[in-house]
Amino acid sequence: MCMLLACMLGCQQQGSSSYLKRPVVYKFKTVQGPLVARTLGQMAREVNIKVRMMPSNSLQRKKSRRMRPTFLTIHSTANHSSTSTAMQHSRALCRGAFNNRNWHFTVDQYMVVQNIPLNETAWHAGTAAGNHNSIGIEMCECENRGHNHFRTWDRTAKLAALLMKRYGINLRRVVPHYHWTGKNCPTPLLTNGRPGPKWAWFLSRVDYYYRCINKGVSNR
Ligand SMILES: [Zn+2]
Repeated sequence: MCMLLACMLGCQQQGSSSYLKRPVVYKFKTVQGPLVARTLGQMAREVNIKVRMMPSNSLQRKKSRRMRPTFLTIHSTANHSSTSTAMQHSRALCRGAFNNRNWHFTVDQYMVVQNIPLNETAWHAGTAAGNHNSIGIEMCECENRGHNHFRTWDRTAKLAALLMKRYGINLRRVVPHYHWTGKNCPTPLLTNGRPGPKWAWFLSRVDYYYRCINKGVSNR
């Protein structure tokens, strides 16, 4: 067997092993509304991604390894202070305020800030499998006048759809932090600490936006 084929088979075996915990398939009601078709570029502009990389000599990045992401892990910050926006979290990450944690994207109602290259692992999922295979996405929960949590969740759904498309990730591999450790995260999208109707609603939004950038065809 050639080396490349052996490697591909090995990678597939690793991908389906219990190490990665087979994702639960959640049922949700498909969004029936008319699709608003977008190019990837149009969707990326809507998502509004700012890139501010953490210094490459930061503690977390020095410990990272290379990654080909096969999961997306959704979190929420549980930080309700009025100033805890995506940009504030990014600044805190970049100055080293979170010792042993980092993640790839932070989302608020206005923008997404990227802090880590997508081919690099980060420390957010609580298990090696989660950290070594998934892109970490934190949703802000800041409480200030005019803050609209729905817009944050919706922007996150668009970002997830874009990343699914870029990496060929199936919707069932868009998972809550809960998937890896049972943690109540992302709290606003769980029900009594577990995926329920609100998580199903979120998946329906991701699926809808995915179809908008994929000629109407789901990946679920
Ligand atoms: Zn989390």
